[in-house]
Amino acid sequence: MTVLGSPPMGSTPRGKRNLKMSVLVDRFSRRIDYLRLSVTDRCNLRCIYCMPPEGVPHLDHADILTYEEIIRFLHVAVKAGIGKVRLTGGEPLVRRDVERLVEGIAALRPRLDISLTTNGTLLASMAEKLAAAGLKRVNVSIDSLHPETYRRLTRGGDLNSALEGVEAALEAGLEPVKINVVTLKHLNDEVEGFLDLVYRLPVHVRFIEYMSPCGAVDASYFVSNQELRAALLRRGAVEEDRPPVGGGPARYYRLPGARGTVGFISPVSSHFCPQCNRLRLTAEGRMRPCLFSSEEVDVRKILRGGGDGRETEEAVRRAILAALEKKPRDHAGLASFSRMNMSRIGG
Ligand code: SAM
Ligand code: SF4
Repeated sequence: MTVLGSPPMGSTPRGKRNLKMSVLVDRFSRRIDYLRLSVTDRCNLRCIYCMPPEGVPHLDHADILTYEEIIRFLHVAVKAGIGKVRLTGGEPLVRRDVERLVEGIAALRPRLDISLTTNGTLLASMAEKLAAAGLKRVNVSIDSLHPETYRRLTRGGDLNSALEGVEAALEAGLEPVKINVVTLKHLNDEVEGFLDLVYRLPVHVRFIEYMSPCGAVDASYFVSNQELRAALLRRGAVEEDRPPVGGGPARYYRLPGARGTVGFISPVSSHFCPQCNRLRLTAEGRMRPCLFSSEEVDVRKILRGGGDGRETEEAVRRAILAALEKKPRDHAGLASFSRMNMSRIGG
């Protein structure tokens, strides 16, 4: 059953203004409060596991939600019970004036927790203004600490610019800074290098299992996180009982004396579906109940439908509930993954 009701008793701290807000609960009693928002399907890199060498056909600009449309959608979503939003893509920082969108989101009430997933290559010059606009924290995807390997995996990317992005994010106070590493057998077997990084910088490295159906490399490159965890435990790591803010589905470990932590996101070897709290909105305004499902609910049609404010708001609210209703119990394995590209859905 889908519930759109009031927050549980006692969930509003004493003395705080009780802003009208609901709670979204899906058919499997999971509380859904997190939206991954793809702001563009475009990207300045071509990671080998995410895109074909020639990239993917771009959506027309007119088909992508405007910032104003995104804000109108979010205005309803926050009231429905969404409390956290992550900007992703494609590469969110290639969309012009993305800090304007962050500013608009930060002005919504109830307040949203705003984060960003980026390849980091454009972050150095943008971190400060994004923080000033209201961004709280970032995940930066860096799959290798060797410039040549990084260039090969991203088909031309510059490792230095991504690392400068990480430093700028730390300086701008966008904390915690997490580093996403998709591990690929024989291509970036670099666990030790990333473990050294958490001694040098206060960052949280997360190893992500490769989900093969959307990339240009086949399933034989898959590395289970169980193997990597064993390497970490050999170095004396202990599991964190308090993961960094926005811990999500990762399990985190701390190495003795390290400034940051190491985490594992294992969508393949251990499903985290029972804890899933997400909905997605694609760049062209379709809600997706699950990364692995091809079900979609079109909200762009509603936002552009010309209804008056109240009608549109009610229709968007119903669309959110429809997406919630379609949320599957689990993804029944990667065989169910549609071949649509991650960069369009918003990974
Ligand atoms: N461009 C941004 C970036 O790279 O961080 C945001 C979009 S990207 C699609 C989001 C995340 O999805 C990245 O951390 C990326 O490594 C991950 N990703 C993309 N394709 C993947 C795959 N086949 N398996 C696992 N993770 C993948
Ligand atoms: Fe671009 Fe991110 Fe996909 Fe790499 S993973 S190609 S940076 S969208």
